Amino acid sequence: MNKVLVLGAGQLARMMDLAGTPLNLNTKAFDVRIDEVVHPLVNEYKFGDLQSGIEQADVITSEFEHISHDVLEQCEASGKLLPTSTAIKIGGDRRLEKSLLESCNVANAKHKVIANHEDFTNAIEQLQLPIIFKSALEGYDGKGQWRLKDISQAESIWTDMEEFVAGAKTSVPQGIIAEQMVPFDREVSIVGARNSKGEIAVYPITENHHTNGVLSVSLAMPVPTKLQEQAFEVFSKLAEKLDYVGVLAIEFFQVGDTLLVNEIAPRVHNSGHWTQQGCDTCQFENHLRAICGLPLGNTELIRPTAMINILGQDSVPEAVLAMPGVAIHWYNKEKRNGRKMGHINVCGNNEQELADKLSQLAEILDPLAFEDIKEFATMLQARVN
Ligand code: AMP
Repeated sequence: MNKVLVLGAGQLARMMDLAGTPLNLNTKAFDVRIDEVVHPLVNEYKFGDLQSGIEQADVITSEFEHISHDVLEQCEASGKLLPTSTAIKIGGDRRLEKSLLESCNVANAKHKVIANHEDFTNAIEQLQLPIIFKSALEGYDGKGQWRLKDISQAESIWTDMEEFVAGAKTSVPQGIIAEQMVPFDREVSIVGARNSKGEIAVYPITENHHTNGVLSVSLAMPVPTKLQEQAFEVFSKLAEKLDYVGVLAIEFFQVGDTLLVNEIAPRVHNSGHWTQQGCDTCQFENHLRAICGLPLGNTELIRPTAMINILGQDSVPEAVLAMPGVAIHWYNKEKRNGRKMGHINVCGNNEQELADKLSQLAEILDPLAFEDIKEFATMLQARVN
């Protein structure tokens, strides 16, 4: 079992290939944009269509959840798809995701499904402002979202959403979920793996910071046991319900000591990239281990680590590479405004050292390209001092 086909040919497939190579795993990627199987590192190398990719693979997995249902069904018919198409579809449709959370009795933001104007006005009445409306399909990184803070904006938001839904080109009907805005203290996530024997290994929860709706920094440091246990319990409930195999990520809002699920991602996740330097076994390797039937690797935090996303930039000063405990991961992508181009992992032997390195990095990195790093470093210094 060593030939893996990944649906999607972006940075996550690339990092799976890089992590699987030492284990003699051979990864190929199906590029949904050109309908061809390609090499995950050198996309110019092509290997044919999806059906031949499926036939040649021992196991098929996915790097994103917004995959056409036809492709998912074609893969599932081979009996090789892990996690299952059900889990992938749930990750791609907020309506299914909310019903899963409810069926597992997992705490999440109060919400309503909106199918017409009557549902819209009822939701406003029952949830009370502020409300966030989210498209059911193809919503990620804050896209397809409307925030209603003042009732005077309600009708114009309704018109926008109606137009958005009518113009959708999705294979399943688009829809809207209304969700109460949660006054959270912070956003965290848990990334973990489950294998076909039902064994689970989770990483410590990570604190996530967003800039303009996109993840900018993830921070992994020792976590209070009770909070980690709470996140683990949610992870096990959802993973077991889905008979999940592979890496699963769950994003939460933390309010006081309580975790409310925001969303789930049935795949390796941006908030788990720090594991490449902060753990013995990174999320990419553990995903491959899980789907290939290999034992799961150690997920303990070995040193406090932060991950900084490189957005819309194809270079950083060389001084970054010269810093000990700092690693850069580029995705070999063409530069585009706001595009995820790579990330920087920063490690310290302890929390103070990590905060110091982040302060140092904040002086080196372009403040226009890395808007919030200085503020983040200052916040961490204050916390660890
Ligand atoms: P999402 O695409 O659902 O992860 O939403 C993008 C970002 O919007 C989240 O990371 C939060 O910062 C914010 N957000 C989403 N839903 C809510 C909510 N119900 N309450 C408060 N903030 C939210």
